[in-house]
Amino acid sequence: MRELEERIANNGRVLSEGVLKVDSFITHQVDPILMEKIGARFAEIFKEAGITKVVTIETSGIAPALYTAQALGVPMIYARKGKSLTMNEELLSTKVYSFTKQVTSNISISRRFLSAEDHVLLIDDFLANGMAAKGLIELCEQAGASVEGIGILIEKSFQDGRDFLQRSGVKVVSLARVASLEKQEVKFLPADDEA
Ligand code: 5GP
Repeated sequence: MRELEERIANNGRVLSEGVLKVDSFITHQVDPILMEKIGARFAEIFKEAGITKVVTIETSGIAPALYTAQALGVPMIYARKGKSLTMNEELLSTKVYSFTKQVTSNISISRRFLSAEDHVLLIDDFLANGMAAKGLIELCEQAGASVEGIGILIEKSFQDGRDFLQRSGVKVVSLARVASLEKQEVKFLPADDEA
């Protein structure tokens, strides 16, 4: 998605350790107009997949997942990290290692919201090693729901996540694919929606 790549090139900042900071339009301050376009793009790509739920993980996946769900006309569910006192019902849960926070946390979704009838589209802001997506796939498996695809805003193609997820046979669509972040410069591969 050309507009997303331009925003990354113009407003993203490269931190050491292969981390890209996009806090002025995705991960802290959020650009709703860009998010709406991203949601429309994912909805277009997955319109024939019979999606019944869009699933993401808090926090930065929520904005693009919500616009995607709105465009598809289905609910959005975000997996919660840690346990809330109000989540006292039966839970689907698993552990996820966070690439940026370098801690393992428990993520969960109430069993009431996902079932074997559901066809799920997973959405997340970044794909690095694929651990967040793996955790979300596990929650869907616990519910018996089928995962029809994974929509990613920014894939860091120099990390293992894409290969790892594709080995499990799931369709991965990344709107921007970063080939490298060397010398503070963002280099792109052709994005999946441009191919
Ligand atoms: P993975 O689980 O694929 O290893 O990492 C994806 C998760 O880590 C995303 O949900 C995102 O929150 C975070 N993440 C991974 N790489 C980056 C990055 O370069 N920048 C930012 N801001 N977050 C990242």
